[in-house]
Amino acid sequence: LNRRLAEFGTTIFAEMSALAVRTGSINLGQGFPDTDGPEEVREAAVRALRDGRGNQYPPGPGVPELRTAIAAHQRDRYGLGYDPDTEVLVTAGATEAIAASLLALVEPGDEVVALEPYYDSYAACIAMAGGTRVPVTLRPREGAYVLDLDELRDAVTDRTRVILLNTPHNPTGMVLGREELAAVAELAAERDLLVVTDEVYEHLVFDGEHTPIATLPGMRERTVTIGSAGKTFSFTGWKVGWVTSTAELVTAVRSAKQYLTYVASGPFQYAVAEALRLPDSYFEEFRADMRGKRELLADGLEQAGFKVFRPAGTYFVTTDIRPLGESDGFAFCRALPERAGVVAIPNAVFYDHKETGAPYVRFAFCKRVDVLADATKRLYKAFA
Ligand code: PMP
Ligand code: GLN
Repeated sequence: LNRRLAEFGTTIFAEMSALAVRTGSINLGQGFPDTDGPEEVREAAVRALRDGRGNQYPPGPGVPELRTAIAAHQRDRYGLGYDPDTEVLVTAGATEAIAASLLALVEPGDEVVALEPYYDSYAACIAMAGGTRVPVTLRPREGAYVLDLDELRDAVTDRTRVILLNTPHNPTGMVLGREELAAVAELAAERDLLVVTDEVYEHLVFDGEHTPIATLPGMRERTVTIGSAGKTFSFTGWKVGWVTSTAELVTAVRSAKQYLTYVASGPFQYAVAEALRLPDSYFEEFRADMRGKRELLADGLEQAGFKVFRPAGTYFVTTDIRPLGESDGFAFCRALPERAGVVAIPNAVFYDHKETGAPYVRFAFCKRVDVLADATKRLYKAFA
C-alpha cells in the first residue's frame, strides 16, 4: 500500500459487518437497510434487464432518462434548475461522486476543510487527490452536535480550495440550518472556495428541513451537490449516485469519473429514474418510518444507560458511552458482540482527533422494528 493510503487500511464497515456475521450479532454498524426499497422500483430494474436497457455500457454521464429525473428532482423539491445534458452526472454511488469531485477539484497541496467526525471515504479521497484535510470538529452541545462558525472560519487558509460539507451529517445526525449554511456561503464567497456537499440523507430529516446549500444566493455557481439512490430508495447495492453542479464543474468531475469506472449500474439507472418520480407519499412514508425507528432505538439506548444524541437527520444515532463507565469506543465495540450480541461503530474512526472521538459510538436504525426491539432488549439486559 502506498504512503497516501497507508493510514487507511480496511474500512471499519467491512470489519464490523464481518464481526457481526462471525458472532451472529445484530448488525447496527454498517448503514444499510434490512428491507429493500419499493417493489415497483425493483420491477423497473427487472424490466430494464430483460429489455436489454443498460446491459451494455450506458453513456458516460448517465442515461438521459436518469439525468432528466435527477434534474426534475432538484427543480421540483428545491427550485434548483440544472440542465440534464451538461449539469448532471450519474456516478457509481455517492462514493464515486465524492472521489471524482475531490480528484477533479483538489490540486496536490490544497487544503480541504471537512466537518469532523467525517464519513470515512472523505479522508481517503482527499489523500488520493494529494490534498490535506483540515478538520473542523463538531461540538456536542445540549444533546446535539453543532458547527462552531468561528472554528470553521479559522480553519480556512490561503491554501483552502474546498469546503466539504455533509448535511444531514453522518455519524452525528446534525442537520445544518439556514443560518449556518449562510455563514458557510459567505465564507466560500469571501475566500473564493468551492463547496462539495454530500446530501445523501436529504430525505431523512426529522426535525426541521433539508436545505441544499446550492439554493443560497450565489452558491449554485460554486457548489457540487451529491445524492444517492442507495440511501433515498434503500438499494445500497445498486450503487447509483449523482452530482449536480454547473457545466464547468460537472465537466471537471466527469473527467475524473470517466477514468474511475467510466460508467456503472446500467439497468439500475433506468429503475432509479422511475424511483425519482415516485409520488410524494413515498418520500413521506420513508421519512415517517425512519422517524419511528429513530424513537425506538434512541429510547432503547437511553433506557440501557447510554447518553443519546437524538439525530435531526440520517439513520444513525451517536451515543456517549461514559455513563456506562466506558471511555474507549473501539474497545467497547470490539467487546459488544460478546456482551450484548450487537455490533456498532466506534466514532473515533471518523476523527483525526482520536481522543475527542473516543467515547462515542454509532448505531444504525435502518432496520426492521423487530430487529431494533431485539437489539434494544439485548442492550438493556447487558447494561441497564
Ligand atoms: N456519504 C455518506 C455520508 C454516507 O453515509 C454514505 C453511505 N453510507 C455515502 C456517502 C456513500 O453512498 P453510496 O452508497 O451511494 O456510495
Ligand atoms: N455509509 C454507510 C455507513 O456509514 C456504509 C457505507 C460503506 O460500507 N462504505 O454506515
